[in-house]
Amino acid sequence: MTSDAIRLCSVSRRYGAGESAVTALDRVSLSFAEGTFTAVMGPSGSGKSTLLQCAAGLDRPTSGTVTVGGTELTGLSETGLTLLRRERIGFVFQAFNLVPSLTAEQNVALPLRLAGRRPSRALVREVLGQVGLGDRARHRPSELSGGQQQRVALARALITRPDVLFGDEPTGALDSRTSREVLGLLRGMVDREGQTIIMVTHDPVAASRADRVVFLVDGRVDGELVGASADGIAARMARMEVASC
Ligand code: ADP
Repeated sequence: MTSDAIRLCSVSRRYGAGESAVTALDRVSLSFAEGTFTAVMGPSGSGKSTLLQCAAGLDRPTSGTVTVGGTELTGLSETGLTLLRRERIGFVFQAFNLVPSLTAEQNVALPLRLAGRRPSRALVREVLGQVGLGDRARHRPSELSGGQQQRVALARALITRPDVLFGDEPTGALDSRTSREVLGLLRGMVDREGQTIIMVTHDPVAASRADRVVFLVDGRVDGELVGASADGIAARMARMEVASC
């Protein structure tokens, strides 16, 4: 029996008011089972970033509910939301967002320090080891390749053992070989550690490593594919882009 790591129930997000109001998400309902890897795709402006932000508690829906590990985000105060984000949610971005003056191990330890916890060096080294960077702990971001920097960012996102790891185009800035390596790591975290991952991507090859691909069009869920090949996903995207012209 699997349970849901995260659930969105009729989530809408509108920006602005009156004539200029934009509905970025329109009554989106989605469930993400624990230990599964989901890719979110859709044309530019379809609501992918807004979906990620609402699901991760970085933005509040105008209506509807988001539940992470049984806790409803919409009912939380700002402080409660900050704590939940810190302890139960991990985030990796296209632009790694590491602190340049800190070493790899200091960057990885940062979320625990921010939470007022004293990270053990053994734990930091263990997580760096999991992403294949055990021997780069003392390096600063400028001394690491793009792929290695993204691995540090991944280790930093995973050190708190989050319920859900969100990726916003995490391989968008990487060449195809490095991108494959990082995707292999993500896949391994799902398969070996039961990590739940939700990743926005434009890349059908990246999306094909996920268990499921959810498509968004105009702020609504426009179907999904399970276990699809990169070619199948690319064909689906091409049809969507034509339809939304
Ligand atoms: P995607 O990530 O798929 O490109 P977004 O979630 O960024 O889509 O945006 C969805 C829609 O919401 C777009 O029409 C965008 O212009 C609008 N939007 C996003 N953020 C804001 C904002 N802060 N203010 C006004 N409109 C916004």
